[in-house]
Amino acid sequence: MIFEGLSEKLQNALGKLKGKGKLTEKDVNDAMREVKLALLEADVNFKVVKDFISKVKDRCIGQEVMESLTPAQHVIKIVNEELTSLMGSVQSKISFASKPPTVIMLVGLQGAGKTTTCGKLASYLKKQGKKPLLVACDIYRPAAIKQLHVVGSKLGIPVFDMGDKQDPVYIANSGLEEASKKGNDVVIIDTAGRLHIDEDLMDELKNVKSKIKPHEILLVIDAMTGQDAVNVAESFNNALGIDGVILTKLDGDTRGGAALSVRAVTNKPIKFVGMGEKLEELEPFHPDRMASRILG
Ligand code: GDP
Repeated sequence: MIFEGLSEKLQNALGKLKGKGKLTEKDVNDAMREVKLALLEADVNFKVVKDFISKVKDRCIGQEVMESLTPAQHVIKIVNEELTSLMGSVQSKISFASKPPTVIMLVGLQGAGKTTTCGKLASYLKKQGKKPLLVACDIYRPAAIKQLHVVGSKLGIPVFDMGDKQDPVYIANSGLEEASKKGNDVVIIDTAGRLHIDEDLMDELKNVKSKIKPHEILLVIDAMTGQDAVNVAESFNNALGIDGVILTKLDGDTRGGAALSVRAVTNKPIKFVGMGEKLEELEPFHPDRMASRILG
């Protein structure tokens, strides 16, 4: 189960309050100390944890909650609301262009799941009645173009490529022309990933961005890398500017640090989550459902 460790610890900490009648300030403080530890162990960013705990405490330590008939329920409700708000409150959707095609650029480091996610997103949008075109701009990883073709043919979605000898800006632009010709209303661009963030990578992405003017730049990050994923998101957002995050491999994430910190650190929402290797395993991200899932 995802976030297993975190869920169990939060439920334990808050469960202890349930046995009590009225709550004292000390009861709330003790529970919050445990909640804080659980979040830190889950690899949630330290500052995010600090702010979160202080908000929850401020709301809990007041007459209304502590003198209510079911104070523990009140505290749990507040934790749930604050977790939801931490993850962005409401579902953040793709914004489609008023005049098609909508251009979505997927960026990220190698191995995060970018190419797979291009296919997943195309498939998700196809099910919503869109006609996506995938464009292969990762010319450095030899297998990436072929991989995108494999994904596209599995899904019955066209893939545009120009081999690995052309400039990515030119390929992306030609992809847009192809979409206009063929009547594709969504263009998903698979860009290059590197093992580390470097200036060349960012410059290339910036060039594609300034020429293509995508409606959405979505950063693909690997949930299992916790704080590292959040740092990657911060760097991409500062250098390139992103519109949202797709958090992959959530199916293997027992901790939850990336899911809980990335919105607060970057101020950009998680739009989708990857829940497995299969091409249909992409889900829109709902902060409220995720909070309820964590609290059980
Ligand atoms: P890229 O280098 O960023 O393009 O990454 P790939 O798309 O090649 O994916 C790297 C690996 O991660 C592959 O083995 C994918 O099957 C796997 N992967 C991608 N998304 C998910 C996910 O949501 N869950 C799981 N379990 N594996 C994933």
